[in-house]
Parts: sequence; C-alpha cells; structure tokens
Amino acid sequence: MKLFSKKNPSHRIPALDPLADRELARRSPKVALTMVPLVGLVTLITDLRTTAPLHAGLFAGFLLVLGLYRLLLVKQFPSLYARAPRYWMRRFNLTILVSAAAFGLALPAIYFTLGAGWTLIICLLTVTGMGASATGSLSPRIALLRGFVSMTLLPLSLTLLVYGNLREIGLGILILFFLGQLLVLGNYFHAEFWRSLKNAHLLKERAVSLQKAKDEIEAANEAQGQFLANMSHEIRTPLNGILGVTDLVLETQLDPQQREYLQIARTSGQSLLRVINEVLDFSRIEEGNLELEAEVFSLPELVHKVASAGKQANRENGNQVIVDLEPDFPQDVVGDSHRIWQILSHLVNNAVKFTRNGTVTILGTPNHRQDGLVAFTISVIDTGVGIPPEAHERVFQAFKQADGSTTRTHGGTGLGLAICQQLAELIGAKITLESAPGQGSTFALHLALPEAQAPLPATVQPSSRLVEISEDQRNDLDGLRVLLVEDNTVNAKLATRLVEKAGIHVVWAQNGQDAVVEYLRSPFDMVLMDIQMPILDGFGATQAIREAEMQTGRRTPIIALTAHAMEGYREKCLGADMDDYLTKPLQPKVLRAALERWSPTGINAPTP
Ligand code: ADP
Repeated sequence: MKLFSKKNPSHRIPALDPLADRELARRSPKVALTMVPLVGLVTLITDLRTTAPLHAGLFAGFLLVLGLYRLLLVKQFPSLYARAPRYWMRRFNLTILVSAAAFGLALPAIYFTLGAGWTLIICLLTVTGMGASATGSLSPRIALLRGFVSMTLLPLSLTLLVYGNLREIGLGILILFFLGQLLVLGNYFHAEFWRSLKNAHLLKERAVSLQKAKDEIEAANEAQGQFLANMSHEIRTPLNGILGVTDLVLETQLDPQQREYLQIARTSGQSLLRVINEVLDFSRIEEGNLELEAEVFSLPELVHKVASAGKQANRENGNQVIVDLEPDFPQDVVGDSHRIWQILSHLVNNAVKFTRNGTVTILGTPNHRQDGLVAFTISVIDTGVGIPPEAHERVFQAFKQADGSTTRTHGGTGLGLAICQQLAELIGAKITLESAPGQGSTFALHLALPEAQAPLPATVQPSSRLVEISEDQRNDLDGLRVLLVEDNTVNAKLATRLVEKAGIHVVWAQNGQDAVVEYLRSPFDMVLMDIQMPILDGFGATQAIREAEMQTGRRTPIIALTAHAMEGYREKCLGADMDDYLTKPLQPKVLRAALERWSPTGINAPTP
C-alpha cells in the first residue's frame, strides 16, 4: 500500500483520519482550560486589571464555556465520532477557531484602547506562546493548525502594519515573520505525525498478517498431524489383518514353496509397518510432540536385547552379531530406555543390512563418571560395504541415502538415521560416524545418564515395551474369559484366534454398546478394547464399564487395542481409565505378554 503519494503533499491519509482525530481528541483536554487561568494572570499583571476588568472577566468566562464544551466533545468522541465523524469534527474545529478568533481580535482591541505598550506586549507574548503550543497539539490536522495560528496573530500584525507608526510596523513585520515560522514548524510536525502514524499502522498490519500466517501454519500442522494419525490408523488396521493371518497360516502345514511365499508376504508387511512407523516418528519429532520418559533400566540387558533382535534380522546375511561390554560399563541407569533401544536397534539393523558374511559388534565403553552421571559410548561396528566420506553428512538427512541405488537393493525410506539423530539430540546424546568404502562403518552413540542409586530391585518393572516374560513366569491363562471389543471382522477373527490359542474363551462384541451389554450380562477376566468404533467408541464403553463397576466394587483390566500409534495416545487411553495399551498390528508375543500380565494371577492383576 502506497500511503504517501506526491499528489498528497499534506501527508494526510484519509484512511487513517479516524486514528489522527482520536489523537487530536486525546491531546485536547490538556490545553482546553489552560487559557482561563492564563487570562486571569495576564489581567492581574497588566493594566487590564484597572482599565478593563469586566471585559477581561467576560473574556475568561467565554473561554471557560468554550473549554468545557470542548471537553464534552472529547468525552463524546468514542460514540459520536463513530456515528458522525464530520459532525464531531466540525464542532471541534469551531471551538478551536472561535477561541483563536477571540484571542486574535482581543489583541487589536487592546492596541486601540491601550496602545502598543506593556500590556499589549504581554498579551502578544501569551498569544504567540499559545500559537507555538498549538503547532504541537493540532499537528494531526494541518488546516486547523494553520487556521488557529493565523487567526491569533494575523489581526494584530495587519492592524500594526496599517495603523502603526514606524516602530509598530516593525513589530507587525516581526509578528508576521514569527507567524511564518510557526506555519513552517507546523508543517514539519504535521508530516512527522503522519509518518509515525503510517509506520505504526503498517507495523500493526504486518503484526496482524504475521499472526494470521502463524495461525494458518499451526492449523496446517495440526491438520497434518491429524492426517498422519488417520492415515496410520487406516493402514495399520488392514495391515494387522494381513500380518496376523499370515502368521496364523505360517503355523499350519505348508509345502516349502507356500511357506516361502508367505514369508515374503510377511516380510513385506513388516517393511510397510516400519515405513509407517518411521514416517510417524519423524513427524512427531518435527512437531516437537515427543515426550521422554525417565525410568530405571539395565543397560547391558538393553544392549543384549538389541543384539538378539539384530541376530533375527540378520538371518539372511550370514553375519556374526557380537556384544562386547568393557569392564566397568554402566549397569543400571535412569533414562528413556525405549528411545535408546530405538536408536541402537536401527544402527544394528543397518549394520546387518549393509554387511554380508561379516561381523557386527556392539561395543560398550565407559568414559567417565562425574556428579552422579556416567558417560559412555555404544558403538555399532560392522565390516560391511562402508560409506564414502562425502556421504557421511548426507546419511543423517531425512529421505537421503548414501547412494541412490540403495533403495533398490536394500529398501528403506532414508528416514532412519535422521530420526536416530533427532532422538539422540532429544536425549542429550550424539551419534558419530567413521566409515570408508570397503572398510566397514562405526556408528557410535555417545551418552551420559544418571546412574541408578541402588541396583534395580526385583520388583521394579522395566518398561512394558521391553517386557518379555520368560517361560517360568508364565501364568496359566487356560479357562479365562476375555471380552474382545472390535468392529473390524478380520481383526476380530485374528485377535480371537490369537487369544484362543492361549486357551482363553473369547466373547466378541462388535461395538462399545454391545460390549457394555455383554459386560453387564456376565463377568470377564479382561477386556480387549478397540478405540475407534461405530455407535459407542472404546472411551465411552470404558466409562460405562467403570461406572457399572462402582456398584460391584470389582475392577476388570481393560487393555486398549488400537491402530492409533501416535505419541500421546497411550497416555490418553490410560487417562481414560484403561489399564494397558497395545498397538495394531498385534504381535502375538506382545499380546500374550499383556494377557499374562493382566490375568488374575499376573503381575499387574488388580487387587480384589
Ligand atoms: P534407511 O531407513 O533407508 O536405511 P537410514 O537413514 O537408516 O535409511 O540410512 C541412510 C543411508 O545410509 C542408507 O540408505 C545407506 O546408504 C547408509 N547406511 C546406513 N547405515 C549404514 C551401514 N552400516 N553401512 C553402510 N551404509 C549405511
């Protein structure tokens, strides 16, 4: 917007008139009544006290009325100006110009009655002072300012030029000169006023548009998050069916070729799941929506778990996976075990993926201990293809791979290391890389964590994500009754098969409402609760069940079973009075572990 144009030398911008007039009104009360005591003082110290006290009194009274009227106009500004700006402005101008005319005419009157003596000089001094102050207070409106200054000084200077003697003519010229200067100064103040008004206005407009842009970005981010959540849900639900049924078929009698085909199908499904998880993770970290946990966990145990998962992934590449923990490597520490596990798993998976018939070593080295913190490094060292130095930085960037052909040979999204790097930053760690083509790679995670004060007691529960219940800990699930609440038929059949395999009797409810009816009909040992369902969702059904339980005093474990894997969803489920949270695709082992934990004889069984 070009506010100042050459065609507008007055600098006034009609669009901003209301703001300028409001400023005019704001400045006005400060001077509205000052003229009254001024006139009184001038009368007292000049001959007016004896020669024209009545006239001076009437003049002061007149100014008082004008001043009060002006104050009234200022008070009415918010309401009156909004309705009738021109009307308000006319009245305001009138009060200013009438008082200017009164002063302007008073000076020649004094000249004609008392001559150009002491009294006239004092009065002239007062009036010129008022003119000077008006250049400041009236600067928003240049015409008004010019009118005020001219009407106060012009009559006397003209009178002196016409009727005065030589000296008085000189005084008249002086007054004219002074008037000219006030007008020039007024122009300058006026231009300055409008410049700053325009700048303030532009700044405000910019702030508003910035705020709008920020709001739009936030809304877009939210929409993107929501889209990802929905997309993840929609893909996970059928994937749950595909992977689960594939697992079930793989457990039946198959000829070698059928088995191979199904294993390919399962691997592809798992890859797809990994891609979804990586994209979700990446967006969560980008949005800053990842919350960290602090729990006591055993570092060597975690490293061994990572290694055994690495061995599984390694089946085809013929590598040796070795764990080498140096003496004095930290034992029990406090931190987010899942994030560390996630980083290390990815590094080990990459190492076995890019190495054939070689060795992958997970080396744990303690560094130093200070202020209760132990610094250590876990290096994943492989003897694989290696990465050229120029690609070292690139491999940590999102969607980038060391060379473009990798995707074709090894698959992957190129997000893994970017996520690891971001996760590492989040937990205050660092990942370094040493590698050269043909000489293998070393990805090292450098970290410092508080050491647990006492060794991990037997009763401390490691995070449920790391739980793998050993055979001897297993409870007898035979004969338990579980209510399965699931609207998707394929997923319901799959979950039923998995649960029934443990000897558990399953009652299936197709939505939350049916679930509540079933629950009220007969007691269950556990409820597996889908969240997103028609008629009544998992949250509503849980609430109804919990309310019913207030009467009976018994509490049935409710395990959320959902394809919503977004961060915070677990907390949402637990906050809605559910007891545990499992994500789809359901992994038979994880489901079984949860069933055992929450069975009446399990470690998490509710106390009666
Ligand atoms: P992706 O999920 O596609 O594997 P990553 O971010 O994990 O992506 O890895 C990016 C690229 O870094 C890989 O495509 C590969 O080119 C290279 N890379 C990662 N780890 C190794 C390794 N241990 N040996 C050789 N190259 C590796």
